[in-house]
Amino acid sequence: MTRKKRNGFVGGIEAGGTKFICGTGTCPDDLEQTEFPTGSRPDQVLAQATDWLAEQQERRGCLQGIGVGSFGPVDLHPDSPTYGFITSTPKSGWRHVDILGSVRQRFPAIPIGFDTDVNTAALGEYYWGNANGLDDFVYITIGTGIGAGGLSGGHLLHGLVHPEMGHMMLPRTSGDTFEGSCPYHGACWEGLCSGPAILKRTGIPSERLPEHHDAWETCAQYTANALTNIIYVLSPLRIVIGGSVRKGGPLGEDRFVRMIRERTRIVLRDYIASPLLRENIDNYIVPPVLGDRAGIAGAMALAQEALAGQLP
Ligand code: ZN
Repeated sequence: MTRKKRNGFVGGIEAGGTKFICGTGTCPDDLEQTEFPTGSRPDQVLAQATDWLAEQQERRGCLQGIGVGSFGPVDLHPDSPTYGFITSTPKSGWRHVDILGSVRQRFPAIPIGFDTDVNTAALGEYYWGNANGLDDFVYITIGTGIGAGGLSGGHLLHGLVHPEMGHMMLPRTSGDTFEGSCPYHGACWEGLCSGPAILKRTGIPSERLPEHHDAWETCAQYTANALTNIIYVLSPLRIVIGGSVRKGGPLGEDRFVRMIRERTRIVLRDYIASPLLRENIDNYIVPPVLGDRAGIAGAMALAQEALAGQLP
């Protein structure tokens, strides 16, 4: 499946659990953006986001589409009465919030795309980054939480709800007794390797965790186990890893991602007969070209898709 690309002037909202980022433009090169904290009052932050887009519309030109990528869980079924809602989030004040409806109410005549924040970031990397043109790939974010999105056969990964790969259960590394930080599962992947998990495990935030701290090795090992599961289940052509933890703090992104690649190769044990994994894993497990802008750029890509009529 080839996805048609448009170059309309569009708006995007990256609704993150910590902050909202809003942007307008046709692509990352002419993107103008702003951001503000998510807080616990959805009505206020959604008004702030739509006000900003309306101001941009007056200043920069008529918006032809809007894309909204949201933290979740969210309802992605167009026929559902709660389509476009944030559903069962533990985040205070945000449960059962009609995020898409708020944007639609303000911009009733504009096509609006809605998806998870990770599928949206994945689409950004598909349009303008490290997954360009790949119809089967996975985008992972390791940050405040762990989430994954991407394309399979050219379609954004949806389903019963949407994939929740961050909550996969992993074999324990030997000697690790950390109880984990996930309120639902304790020691799932997110409970073991997200930013809050690292903080709970070490008492130090990942951005300041010393380069020789054991926790880097431990997180790289768990992440390698998780990537191996993803490779076996979805057979992606590439895995893009974003999110704040992947930057590796003082260790640095290069070394942390290299650590993950090396361990993934070991866990895979050459079982998959692909030269991409055996000889070229440096180009298989990669950081996002768009960096921290993958989410907002992806929201613009989602808007272009809504404009092209290729979203439900
Ligand atoms: Zn979990």
